Amino acid sequence: MRMILLGPPGCGKGTQAKMLIETYGIPQVSTGDILREELSQKTPLGLEAKTYMDKGALVPDGLVIRIIEGRLKKADCKGGFILDGFPRTLAQAEALEKTLAGMNLEIEHVLSIEVDDAELIRRLTGRRICRQCGGSYHLMFNPPRQEGRCDACGGELYQRDDDKEETIRKRLIVYQSQTEPLISFYQKKGILHAIPGVGSIDDIKGKILRALSS
Ligand SMILES: [Zn+2]
Repeated sequence: MRMILLGPPGCGKGTQAKMLIETYGIPQVSTGDILREELSQKTPLGLEAKTYMDKGALVPDGLVIRIIEGRLKKADCKGGFILDGFPRTLAQAEALEKTLAGMNLEIEHVLSIEVDDAELIRRLTGRRICRQCGGSYHLMFNPPRQEGRCDACGGELYQRDDDKEETIRKRLIVYQSQTEPLISFYQKKGILHAIPGVGSIDDIKGKILRALSS
């Protein structure tokens, strides 16, 4: 079971990734996690990546793909893996395909969790933070008892710039412009499953499991 998990920020991908790990007993391979591990172990690839990160630059695709290749060759990926956060662009998808072909492997399923922008914006702009104690709330999922006030300390709640609608909209636009070519790339291969990311966690899980067994 070798798969890629795609979905915009706020689509609930993390929750479904955990479900897939448990259901299929395969690891989640996230570029962020592997990079952090390579950095902490000071591997040659990790140190190379660090030279870019220290400059505030993106780690180039060629290097990311070498790091991923190393991870996919580990024993726990024998039965499959869930790629999360990579590929993000068409160029990365093509590089991944080449790398996997060199290992006699290919991606079998691409799950794209789809949620419309209005809903994503509602989910992503709902976070409020307490100025005094740093406590975190969400207007939809974990609202404070009294509007605008922290339950724990009575401090004023505020919205971080990262959580403001304008910032969120920009992130979603970037996501969509990068991901659309990726989606059609996998659609043409006949391995894309579009999963509506609305309803309960169990509803979405059911849709994913049905797609994977079809
Ligand atoms: Zn507080």
